[in-house]
Amino acid sequence: MAAELPYEEISPWVETPADLRDPLAENLRTDVVVIGGGYTGLSTALALRAQGAHVAVLEQDFAGSGASGRNAGHLSPTIGKDIPTLLRLFGRERAASLVRFADASVEHTEEVIRKHGIDCDYATNGNILAGLHPKHEPRLRRAAEAAQGLGARVRFLAEGEMRERGLPAAFTCGVLEECGGALHPGRYITGLRRAALAAGVRLFERSALTELVAGPPAVARTAHGSVTADFAVLATNAYTAATGWKKRAIAPLGVSLLETEPLSDDQRAALGWQGGEGIYTAHETLENYRITAQGTLVGGTKLVRFAFGHRLPAGYDPEAFRSIDSAFRARFPALRDLGVRRFWSGWIALTLDLLPALHVDGPKGNVLSGLGYCGHGVGQATLMGAMLAERVQGREHPWESALQRRRLSWPPEPLRWTCAKILNGVFTAIDRRTDRQIRALRG
Ligand SMILES: Cc1cc2nc3c(=O)[nH]c(=O)nc-3n(C[C@H](O)[C@H](O)[C@H](O)COP(=O)(O)OP(=O)(O)OC[C@H]3O[C@@H](n4cnc5c(N)ncnc54)[C@H](O)[C@@H]3O)c2cc1C
Repeated sequence: MAAELPYEEISPWVETPADLRDPLAENLRTDVVVIGGGYTGLSTALALRAQGAHVAVLEQDFAGSGASGRNAGHLSPTIGKDIPTLLRLFGRERAASLVRFADASVEHTEEVIRKHGIDCDYATNGNILAGLHPKHEPRLRRAAEAAQGLGARVRFLAEGEMRERGLPAAFTCGVLEECGGALHPGRYITGLRRAALAAGVRLFERSALTELVAGPPAVARTAHGSVTADFAVLATNAYTAATGWKKRAIAPLGVSLLETEPLSDDQRAALGWQGGEGIYTAHETLENYRITAQGTLVGGTKLVRFAFGHRLPAGYDPEAFRSIDSAFRARFPALRDLGVRRFWSGWIALTLDLLPALHVDGPKGNVLSGLGYCGHGVGQATLMGAMLAERVQGREHPWESALQRRRLSWPPEPLRWTCAKILNGVFTAIDRRTDRQIRALRG
């Protein structure tokens, strides 16, 4: 289908690397085989190499071609649906440890960026969960208080403080997450790739896994070779079900973004927003916005897609693109003349309790996976890499216990699809009502 809207097949952040690695074309024996070259896979490989293990990474396209090279770049300590829901589901102690895990994922990612000298435009401006309607104020105030009570570095911003910070008028109050900020996702994953290669990780690109046998030893096969290893680590997140493993752990969800043309000086001045905080809206299916180091605005989400049978929803999605474009226009009337340079999509992995998980499978516990970041994987997937590497060494990472819980499985098809459709329908209906209320308020 010819694209009517400006469409980027992967994203504006990454392109096929000039030093694309050769496909696997041998039968290799190593200590650990990692499948997937995103934040999870490369962080795992780097942490394992630092401990002296020999590691091969199999990546079906190029490292960074998945969500790690497509995302919006918010490095934030957001976890679960929201803090009040975490408290209801898990109680105070477990909710507090999840909040600390989320903070730790941001701090760990900052450390990885520093350690490997990755130049990824990382700006520590924090992120704001922003209200758009008076009805959001009590909810966000309560959420901030609950989060503070659990030790999170957040604070409530009333309307006056939002205006003092120069935040766009559409955003009427908010919860400021002081830890984290935003980065260039492509430069971050490219930096991890460079560090992994320099550390001696054997990376095979254009090398899709065709079969993973647990063994032990585990055998990962591709079209032209195989890797036999003591441990296999699945780092394929939203793509995992297609490997035949963990089919009921996650549901893949399609998410779209846009990037505008660079803002002119006048547009930048009219916009305010000097602090450059990342913004998510208090919708059920949030909108997200940030200004990039290149002076463009990136925004999106709003409308998400599930597909039947674990297939990945299509990337070119004009309805989703139009919906994020119209949300962007509504939130930023001062930018009404600003053109959109491109739209793109990627896939996130949703768990039923909206928390990530580290799984140990195989008859001898030698097939590990880390997945289900529910759209918050920039930090969480990076920390997951360190946790998976510890588990391979037979040790428990200090943060592993925070994620231990009774995990819920998605039901088999067609129930999974029906359940996802109903949940999505409810959230969309709530958000449409909220948007009607916002429009009514603004006349
Ligand atoms: C549009 C969008 C916006 C997002 N925005 C944010 C954000 O602002 N902040 C945030 O924290 N998170 C965000 N996320 C989520 C975040 O990007 C992910 O959670 C994170 O990148 C997951 O990393 P990963 O390495 O586990 O998965 P991925 O980056 O998806 O990597 C998986 C890799 O596995 C490879 N693979 C799949 N199947 C096979 C196979 N059979 N053989 C070999 N290789 C295979 C894929 O090609 C891919 O490279 C966003 C995601 C999307 C899609």
